Amino acid sequence: MNKEILKDFCLSLGLDAVGIASVDLPPEDLQSPICPLAAGQGKSRYDPRRIMPDCRSLIVVLFPYFYGYPPESNLALYCHGPDYHNVIKSYLHKIGTFLRSDDATLTYMPVADTSPLADRLLARMAGLGFIGDNQCLINEKYGSYCFIGTILVNRFFEPDSPSAGECLHCRACSHSCPGRCFALDRTYDYRLCKSYLTQKKGDLTAKEIAVIRKTAYIFGCDECQRVCPHNASVAVTPLPEFREDLLPYLDATELEPMTNGEFKERYGTRAFSWRGKKILIRNAEYLRSTLKK
Ligand code: SF4
Ligand code: SF4
Repeated sequence: MNKEILKDFCLSLGLDAVGIASVDLPPEDLQSPICPLAAGQGKSRYDPRRIMPDCRSLIVVLFPYFYGYPPESNLALYCHGPDYHNVIKSYLHKIGTFLRSDDATLTYMPVADTSPLADRLLARMAGLGFIGDNQCLINEKYGSYCFIGTILVNRFFEPDSPSAGECLHCRACSHSCPGRCFALDRTYDYRLCKSYLTQKKGDLTAKEIAVIRKTAYIFGCDECQRVCPHNASVAVTPLPEFREDLLPYLDATELEPMTNGEFKERYGTRAFSWRGKKILIRNAEYLRSTLKK
């Protein structure tokens, strides 16, 4: 099967941002600050053949999730819908099954967000966008509001060319960032990222709590994406899973009397629930204590 047939099938599923990346990372990407190799984790950690020894190509798929900005929200946009890992895996398995219907000896492995592969670099290599100063993969049509899924296959598909788009380096993301995570030299430090802190377990330091208090979100942070000019007029997701049954606002006081089992039953399929209710209540409490002042 050639990649045009593969992409046509993906289009029939509503997936119009699909590309092929080589299993070999170009040398210039080894210098990228978001590349795991740059963090000293060693080449074998990145290599897709580490998790699939006979891997020959990577099929990279974007799953857009922008559906508009709701009037009131206290959760990051990416978690208004269902747990995206499940949605992505389901689509990737459909693609894998399609590939195998043509070639029963083909093997594939779907990965979504949880693998040691550098998703954004792979998406860039597959021609699906560029990486902005805000560290996000930015796609021409869907901006940065995309999840990334990858299928490792033991067949060769001609790699796509990396995208020609570029970050404007306008620093809007930097100026809007509650955690001041972006340095002037365009390096990035995640340790005071509000998105990270709202998911970090345990008691936070006064400095960390101060970051949480800067915006009203109790889980995640969209500031550096909302202000990015590349997200100014992005297309709404074609995927029904990210347009229906959405929950942009969570009243954390309702969570307090719930048992963990009740929380799981009610919110267990939601993207914000994987850390449990305790951390959501804690974050809301940090914000409430600001309001009391
Ligand atoms: S806000 Fe400006 S600097 Fe930041 S990622 Fe977008 S274009 Fe680049
Ligand atoms: S998600 Fe929020 S806190 Fe994190 S880098 Fe972006 S703007 Fe800063």
